[in-house]
Amino acid sequence: MPSTSRVCIHLKLWSLDHQPPGVVSVGAESHIRWCSGKGFVDFWYDRWLGDTPLAAMLEVDNPPHMLVAEFFSNTGWNSGKLKQWIPDYLVVQICQRQLFPELANEMEGLRQRKGSSMLFRLLWNDILPLKVSFFAWRVLCNWLPLDVMLRNKGVVLVSRCLCCHQEEESLNHLFLKGPVASRVWEHFGRRFGILDVVRYSLASVWMSWFDSVSPGQVDHIRTVVPTLILWSLWKLRNHARFENLAFSAQQVIVMVNVFVDQLGAARILNATHFRGDGNNPWAAWVGRQARRVECRTVSWQRPSPHYYKLNTDASVYQGRASGGGLLRNMDGNLVFAFYKEFGESDVLMAESLSLMHDLLLCSERQAQNLLVEVDSEQ
Ligand SMILES: [Zn+2]
Repeated sequence: MPSTSRVCIHLKLWSLDHQPPGVVSVGAESHIRWCSGKGFVDFWYDRWLGDTPLAAMLEVDNPPHMLVAEFFSNTGWNSGKLKQWIPDYLVVQICQRQLFPELANEMEGLRQRKGSSMLFRLLWNDILPLKVSFFAWRVLCNWLPLDVMLRNKGVVLVSRCLCCHQEEESLNHLFLKGPVASRVWEHFGRRFGILDVVRYSLASVWMSWFDSVSPGQVDHIRTVVPTLILWSLWKLRNHARFENLAFSAQQVIVMVNVFVDQLGAARILNATHFRGDGNNPWAAWVGRQARRVECRTVSWQRPSPHYYKLNTDASVYQGRASGGGLLRNMDGNLVFAFYKEFGESDVLMAESLSLMHDLLLCSERQAQNLLVEVDSEQ
């Protein structure tokens, strides 16, 4: 359950007496409803709309992680965005729901950037997905389940950081002063000429990046790099903690680069975001904005006798990837077809996921003698 959500406005009576723990959790979960609160509940898996999560209601497999708050604008529900994901009848149902005052106020505050401090205001911009900005906000509020935090709340544990195994895992050590974090900040600092920053607090480092941009320009690559560094440190720290994987500065640097590349491939980056930083390698994405339109005739060719032909395709629109495919026999008759959302991804990954999903479906149906066609040019 998301710890940031407010819970149980419709908690029905449920007897906990004499129930084994597993039964209690399953039983209790089915009786819990989430209210929207500040909108930071999972769009697909939390029961914020009724008795059934949207993912179960619509029988959607592996939907991308999205927050309810991502479907708000400062004027209320964003019905256009909702329609991209769910049927119209549900959109109507959702739009008729009265917003919780707290959620409406919170979202209006975020959209109008009326945060309580300049730093908080700068976290919300047009480049980063809302969940990443929200994560940065949690960092600033010190709302992460780090070892030191958990111990302060009474959890008994022995803490060792994952970056050098020498110190306790604290916010400053993980994100700022530990060896991994230090090397990452130095790497990107050199790239942008932000040198000799005294890292005595996260806020001071953040502000040194924000101060290097023209006043008032929130939507700039320099205002998002610090957030991406923190996001990548946290993701890889979690991989190391829960999956026993390595945790190195190089991995974090690669993850930040991949994230920016995905923003570029999704055509989210423009020249304004690189004002004054035209020589930065990432600015090359700006030149790729214009897409060459080319008309050509495409026709479907029959496979050889006793073969099936598998066609897949994928696309990325406003950062969201989706794909589909179909299998036909040598007479052109359809065997099956599918469509699937892949969440935030670049085009090449979306094409690969689409092909993989199609092959899995073929495997389930024991379809053999396949001829595969994709249209990716990369
Ligand atoms: Zn360490």
